[in-house]
Amino acid sequence: MKTLQGIGASSGFGHAKAFRLLPPHFSVDEATTFQSSKELPLLETAIEQTTADLVRLEEVTTTTISPAAAEVFAAHQLILLDPSMADHMQELIQQGHQALYAVLQAQRFFKDMFAAMDDAYMQERAQDIVDVTNRIATYVSGQVPIDLALINEPVILIARDLGPSDTAVLNKAFVRGFVTEIGGRTSHTAIIARSLEIPAVVGAVDALASVNDQDIVLLNGTSGEVVVHPDVETLARFDQATKEYAKQQEILQTYATKETRTKDGVRIELASNIGSIDELDKAVERRSDGVGLFRTELLFLAASSAPTEEAQFEIYQRAVTLAQPHKIIFRTLDIGGDKVIPYMDLPKEDNPFLGVRGIRLNLQERVLLQTQLRALVRASATGPIRIMFPMIATLEELLDAKAMVEEAKTSLIADGSPVGEIEMGIMIEIPAAAVAADVFAPHIDFFSIGTNDLIQYTMAADRMNEGVKHLYQPYHPAVIRLISMTIDAAHRHGKWTGMCGSMAGELEATTLLLALGLDEFSVSIASLLELRAHIATIDTTALHGLKEAVLQATSREQIMTLLKQD
Ligand code: PEP
Ligand code: MG
Repeated sequence: MKTLQGIGASSGFGHAKAFRLLPPHFSVDEATTFQSSKELPLLETAIEQTTADLVRLEEVTTTTISPAAAEVFAAHQLILLDPSMADHMQELIQQGHQALYAVLQAQRFFKDMFAAMDDAYMQERAQDIVDVTNRIATYVSGQVPIDLALINEPVILIARDLGPSDTAVLNKAFVRGFVTEIGGRTSHTAIIARSLEIPAVVGAVDALASVNDQDIVLLNGTSGEVVVHPDVETLARFDQATKEYAKQQEILQTYATKETRTKDGVRIELASNIGSIDELDKAVERRSDGVGLFRTELLFLAASSAPTEEAQFEIYQRAVTLAQPHKIIFRTLDIGGDKVIPYMDLPKEDNPFLGVRGIRLNLQERVLLQTQLRALVRASATGPIRIMFPMIATLEELLDAKAMVEEAKTSLIADGSPVGEIEMGIMIEIPAAAVAADVFAPHIDFFSIGTNDLIQYTMAADRMNEGVKHLYQPYHPAVIRLISMTIDAAHRHGKWTGMCGSMAGELEATTLLLALGLDEFSVSIASLLELRAHIATIDTTALHGLKEAVLQATSREQIMTLLKQD
């Protein structure tokens, strides 16, 4: 038996065989001269196997996951239909090169060629080229590609990291849990795991090397414990805990039809964070007060190319309809940091979290934002919407972004398109925006505090980095003061403040956030009922004095003690 300690990222228990997602490893021989009579058939077979895989993957994904998820495999087949890539590989083999070398050379050549094109759609094909040629290279080198879409028995996935493009094509019916080597509680893999409601542990260092495929693995998504080859006692302990967890979940289900109210009857606005329409269905089922954060970039991350205005409009319009009578806060694309969109081929940065992220990218790649805003403004004709800009640091950014919304409205009205009511807000996730909240307040309808980033930027502690986990402190006096300043500034201007960062779903924080006057909580679908049940135990009349005491506290420990007394 072996135990790994990671970070609990999505609650629940998993018990299944391990399935490792190992990156392909290629060893190229450039020194030897190879016989084309041997290498050419290798290539031919690999291309045939790849074609067969893609056809099968498209079929299976269409039926077991969704037609949208299957699109990527159709796009990959199109690439193989063009003979120029195979010709390029064959020429290199005829010059005496190894088939693997030829495939990887062709990969580089075609990827660079597509990435350099002016047309954004063609640029986006670069990632498809990489995916298809990696598959050919895997076969040519005698390996077998790993396909999450083809998993057909219960497994626990073990990977270095999992991106939305991986999770978009995995069959959720069989995945009993994720374990990843990197990431923290607020990394995007963790957020996706919670949105899929699959138990997950992240930051389990060396997990890939510690586990073999088919090993029996137990996972506790709350404590972060991962056990490989459990002994009888551990199995019994997990079994008991799994049963208790299921019982708790049953109790929580009784809150699905209730309004969110404190013990003393105060109505609290409890909204959901979503990244897809599927999640919105769950939010509606659980009587969510609308959506406090629609991470629209997840639609882009899960696709193989950027969704068009029309495709976005359809999704946004459907979302507005489904959420009625409640509203949705659509956050404009927040790309960058740990959210990398492979097909966009954006330049690598030394410090991506401090680089061209969120609104900064939106205002540079203006067509991307213009397209999204047009789709959103069109959706507003179906019902009132809210638009929120991520990573705002300066008033100029906000005014520029707001002007783009006005432009989208004007041009749509000129085209005769109906336009509805739109409120606008910003995320408070950079300390500059929190400190200057009163500067922004007159120009917005609402703030939403993104603690996942606000904590990392306030404490200068990367939300992905295990090494500085001890500094990533939600209860540091600086973080609490920034939250309080934001709420107060909004209220002074007659505006409201929500919170969509993970802290909104932390039960230890609820009394404090209520005492500070937070107007809306927006949490993952997985946390919604738990938070509603917790709010029902809180008596707001007992919170007098808590705000003042917490704002005077000089340490995290003092603040946490005050919250425990509560
Ligand atoms: C945040 O930063 O708290 C937030 C909600 O945004 P994201 O987690 O998507 O960066
Ligand atoms: Mg953020």
